[in-house]
Amino acid sequence: MLRIEILPHSHPFASNTYLLTSADECAVIDPSSPYDESYVKGKVKYIFLTHAHFDHMLDIDEWVEKTGATVLVSEHDYDALADSEKNCYMLLTHKDKGYYGRAEKMKDSNIYPLGHESIKVISTPGHTPGSVSLLAGSSLFVGDTIFAGGGYGKCCFPGGDFAEIRKSIIKILWLDENITVYPGHDGKTTIKEYKKDYLR
Ligand SMILES: [Zn+2]
Repeated sequence: MLRIEILPHSHPFASNTYLLTSADECAVIDPSSPYDESYVKGKVKYIFLTHAHFDHMLDIDEWVEKTGATVLVSEHDYDALADSEKNCYMLLTHKDKGYYGRAEKMKDSNIYPLGHESIKVISTPGHTPGSVSLLAGSSLFVGDTIFAGGGYGKCCFPGGDFAEIRKSIIKILWLDENITVYPGHDGKTTIKEYKKDYLR
């Protein structure tokens, strides 16, 4: 069984941070909530980034330091980790910041085992060139590609591409409609609900 928790927000800009646990292994998705050992019931194996925007990695250094977990980012967003123009630190906080530590590049369809489950990478570019959605059982973590209520991510940031995000939305709509969708901001939805809201 996969346990999914959303960790508390503690920064004004922060994205949702999800903690996934199966058996005695954990993965964190978009580390923008400070590390707190009371949440973590097992070994943190992976730190996934749905994309390399600053608001999805505000606490990445602390998670890396405390857990030693592998940071995973799409091969197409890898350069943005340390580039404050591409990761939007400069645009939105006027700080020349980024993540300068080790990271591994994810490719479409990669699968990462976690306890009794596995996490599959689905490439969903558009909001950024390397935006991905992560499928774990019947849960899909979509970053800023789509939002509950029929919305989708802005394409006006560096590397954003409206034609690409439209293709990515269609790709998501073709998945099993019973899948629960966990966006990078605000609440969750399902593919079925999203389809209704998007096509309205
Ligand atoms: Zn973003």
